[in-house]
Amino acid sequence: MISYWEKAHFLKYDLIVIGAGIVGMSTAIQYKLKFPQSRIAILERGVFPSGASTKNAGFACFGSLTEILDDLNMMSEEEVLALVEKRYQGLHAIRKVFGDETLGYQDKGGFELITSQEVSALDQMNRINKLLMPLFGEDVFSVEKDIYRYGFGKEVLQVVKNKFEGELDTGKYILALWDKCQQLGIRLHSGAEVLIIDDNQIHVKEPVTYDVIRFESAKIAICTNAFAKRFFPELDIFPGRGLVMVSKPLQSKIAWKGAFHYDKGYVYFREVEGNRLLIGGGRNLDFEGERTETFEVNSLLRSYLEKLTRSVVFPDQKVEFEMEWTGIMAFGETKKPIIQKVSANTVVGVRLGGMGVAIGWQAGTELVDLL
Ligand SMILES: Cc1cc2nc3c(=O)[nH]c(=O)nc-3n(C[C@H](O)[C@H](O)[C@H](O)COP(=O)(O)OP(=O)(O)OC[C@H]3O[C@@H](n4cnc5c(N)ncnc54)[C@H](O)[C@@H]3O)c2cc1C
Repeated sequence: MISYWEKAHFLKYDLIVIGAGIVGMSTAIQYKLKFPQSRIAILERGVFPSGASTKNAGFACFGSLTEILDDLNMMSEEEVLALVEKRYQGLHAIRKVFGDETLGYQDKGGFELITSQEVSALDQMNRINKLLMPLFGEDVFSVEKDIYRYGFGKEVLQVVKNKFEGELDTGKYILALWDKCQQLGIRLHSGAEVLIIDDNQIHVKEPVTYDVIRFESAKIAICTNAFAKRFFPELDIFPGRGLVMVSKPLQSKIAWKGAFHYDKGYVYFREVEGNRLLIGGGRNLDFEGERTETFEVNSLLRSYLEKLTRSVVFPDQKVEFEMEWTGIMAFGETKKPIIQKVSANTVVGVRLGGMGVAIGWQAGTELVDLL
């Protein structure tokens, strides 16, 4: 049941964006900046964005040494360089638009732990530095001299530094996007699950009355990432769940700073406020089990991360975990996001993989161009 007032004022827009993650909000903001007169709404099924954008680890990364080497197994050097450039420029763009303080951005570098499994990557470091030289003008990767100061477990043979990586506060980034939407008069409806998109009509489930509300929009941007198959069953996209855990404050002051990668980037850890460890990942231990849209915790992964904390990250101190959560990413056969027009007035921007912090804003720019 729709009221006279709701019908008169709430249902028609120039652009409706579906999904209020990084990509959805970035698209709405950039469209409004380009077309200031337009009426824009974002429809989000959760109270908060309920996918990956508020669940991630906040790494402002563009590829560790072993990740880039992995990419080179599937892509040409030109393609890999283009991908790194896109990610790095994406990070630059959000820093410029929102400012480091607003994002809680910290320029402490990225680090990769090298064990016997990855040691051969060191032979390729010069080649990768050379490949990235046109982009950065200097070496990106270097081997740390004194690895004992980190206090890592014995299996860590080397630590490779990436001086251009950083980290941000995920919550602050989403707050900055919310604030910008509000400032620009973009309406954000939460609890608005889109059931069907029928040409320019969008059917939404009303969570209180269970009525179906029909919105109408001249243009539509679908930014539902891992959940896009509902609208496009044929898309090459599958969900990948990620687990993150945060410890209680540690007794000894954490001796290192920065964003750390382990096991080709499948595991990541950093410090968060209050001398706490944030550690996440391990999806590669159970790829099939983690190919899911449900937000549960896989106990196998929890035990693995706890064990890694004890054996590799802090072999000399007791760490107790206080929080854990999961988020859902979107993957496909390639690492490239899907950013395309699906009809004259509808675009889709999904499959952001594990680097949406770096490329989410840029995905919005490209979607606005397509619109
Ligand atoms: C555990 C974890 C750690 C990560 N760590 C990092 C990191 O350190 N650095 C990094 O760069 N990236 C990281 N990522 C990846 C990054 O978070 C994502 O690439 C990025 O958030 C994707 O943004 P998005 O807007 O495309 O998707 P999402 O944030 O998933 O947004 C999609 C939105 O669509 C909504 N939605 C879905 N279906 C509907 C519907 N039918 N109706 C209405 N709304 C709907 C969802 O609720 C969701 O809010 C991580 C992800 C996870 C899960």
